[in-house]
Amino acid sequence: MLHVESLHAGYDNLRVLHGIDLDVPAGDLLAVIGANGAGKTTVLRAVSGLIRPSSGRVTVDGRAVTGLRAEKVAAAGLAHVPENRLVFPSLTVADNLALGGWTRRSSRLTDDRDRVLDLFPRLRSRLAQPAGTLSGGEQQMVVIGRGLMAGPKVLVLDEPSVGLAPRLVAEIFAALARLRDEAGLAILLVEQNARAAFRVADRVAVMDRGRIATKGTPAELAGDDRVQRAYLGGG
Ligand code: ATP
Repeated sequence: MLHVESLHAGYDNLRVLHGIDLDVPAGDLLAVIGANGAGKTTVLRAVSGLIRPSSGRVTVDGRAVTGLRAEKVAAAGLAHVPENRLVFPSLTVADNLALGGWTRRSSRLTDDRDRVLDLFPRLRSRLAQPAGTLSGGEQQMVVIGRGLMAGPKVLVLDEPSVGLAPRLVAEIFAALARLRDEAGLAILLVEQNARAAFRVADRVAVMDRGRIATKGTPAELAGDDRVQRAYLGGG
């Protein structure tokens, strides 16, 4: 569903990605972990059209989207949930969600919103509340919900767990697992919280200085001493 081949990208004169290959089929969740500055966020930006790759190939649902602007990549079926959890603070939760569905036919919007509220039930009683007054975890749910309102096939998320209490991390990751299992979304997740990522992911890719250093199932990688020491806090 999401296919990334030999992706090179960076900023001005800084080369960050040196040939990234990733595949995320429908109904699959791939987590990308790695040290600070390894280039995880840059992978998501290059995939979703926020920066232009210098070379390589990205396809979404079989359509080549390499080098297209973010709106076009979104129209091909990819929703990007960025790191900074930006809601429109003075707009209500309902309006924040509706903004994510602006490209959809109005007949779809109610169904789409019902699905988001089914996934994140705590948003239901807060629909009329300004989104800026929600807790961090609830704001994260709004931002993910807003992405889902466009009816994507591929969901990419940048560190959705940052700064959240363990219970909320578990709620959000349970929602991602449902989107994968019930809606068949292809999910690409960048995470600092390797333990949480290992619990939900089907496969994990470890990034190091702009390359994929190793990948495998969580069970395979948990058996790797270096991964265990560097990311899982094991000895
Ligand atoms: P973290 O876990 O700290 O978020 P990351 O693995 O997501 O790190 P990136 O944010 O992709 O890493 O950053 C990779 C490199 O690109 C870093 O050296 C960073 O300083 C640089 N970089 C990131 N964003 C920009 C930018 N907008 N302009 C210039 N350099 C940038």
